[in-house]
Amino acid sequence: MKVPWTINPYTPFPGVERGFSPYQSKDLSALSASVEEGLQYLFQTKNEVLVFPGRGAGALEGAVVNFFSPQDKVVAGIMGEGGSEWAQIGERFGLQVLRMGSERGEVITAQDVELLLRSEAGKDIKGVFITHNEISTGVVVDIEKLGKVCREHHLLFLVDAINSLGVVNLKTDEWGVDVVVASPKNLITPDPGLCFLSANDKAWKYNTRANCPRYYWDLTRLQKYFHHPIPENPCIPVPFLLILDEAIQLIKKEGLENIFTRHLKLSCMLRRGIEALGLELLVSDEHIASPSVTAIRVKEEVEAEKITSFLKEEGIATLGGETQLQKKIILIEHSGCFCAFDIASIIATLGRALKAQGVAVDLAKSLAQVWEAYDNE
Ligand SMILES: *Cc1c(COP(=O)(O)O)cnc(C)c1O
Repeated sequence: MKVPWTINPYTPFPGVERGFSPYQSKDLSALSASVEEGLQYLFQTKNEVLVFPGRGAGALEGAVVNFFSPQDKVVAGIMGEGGSEWAQIGERFGLQVLRMGSERGEVITAQDVELLLRSEAGKDIKGVFITHNEISTGVVVDIEKLGKVCREHHLLFLVDAINSLGVVNLKTDEWGVDVVVASPKNLITPDPGLCFLSANDKAWKYNTRANCPRYYWDLTRLQKYFHHPIPENPCIPVPFLLILDEAIQLIKKEGLENIFTRHLKLSCMLRRGIEALGLELLVSDEHIASPSVTAIRVKEEVEAEKITSFLKEEGIATLGGETQLQKKIILIEHSGCFCAFDIASIIATLGRALKAQGVAVDLAKSLAQVWEAYDNE
């Protein structure tokens, strides 16, 4: 078989020096600066936002090892899978992790944390880990109120925004979030590949004292690679940076506020449609319902698996969801480039899936509810 010459990355391309792949041009510093400026817009922060190669969980580990030491006492809020992963990482590195759970489909509130901090168990706590938008149950936490409590108690406040960046409002600086961990999960780019971390001055002070062992996730090393990238041997996957840069331009064009509003509206439409189909929402309180992921609590007569496989055949993917709720919920994600038509087709397909199982549904009424929410919510 003949090999086409263009596959070899070391072949000189027009305008590219020998020894450089087309991605590894000398404009790498400009690219990383542009990406960082875009991420500061998304994070709503003036602080530095670092970009690493890896998946979101890597940046969660980065937050543990760079700001804490073994034996440090922290609170980890656990509302589903996201929170429990962060708690596990802390425990692996020898932190004393106080796991604070909520009922699945409920949230941890500022009052819950305040109560714990005022109790005997809450003495000497150094930091609070919380998930903003819990993907496995579809709940969203009030970060602003939690930020206030953490500030009053002089704690480091760390937020897992992996599932919220670009879909749920997170005012990092205004709400006093010290460390934000995120990934491009909802940024209309391929994922996994990159992860992000922003830290303020208070967090960098913690960093000088923290002595957890770290190598790959050492922020000071990663900072060097990101801010002074070496074109010959970049340490951040350049194709991902190029795509992210493009995606951020599209996001800026729509505008963050507009994106948040769109997600809220789509979530309302979906919720109204689900109710009209006679199905139950896992999260009944609108105030804590995630704008980007919705869980349906499955009744006994309809089997989750049959519905999800029907949806899959029609091209609608569902998520695995929280282990405690396996086969009890159907989890639908509606983030990124979703529009009103997508929501209507999800409701139509759900209705057909129910009908296929002999459940009586009024599909026309359900779709009418969806479009009513589009007009009025
Ligand atoms: C997806 C997700 C993670 C894990 O991210 P990976 O990129 O898969 O490592 C952690 N927390 C939350 C809230 C998530 O949604």
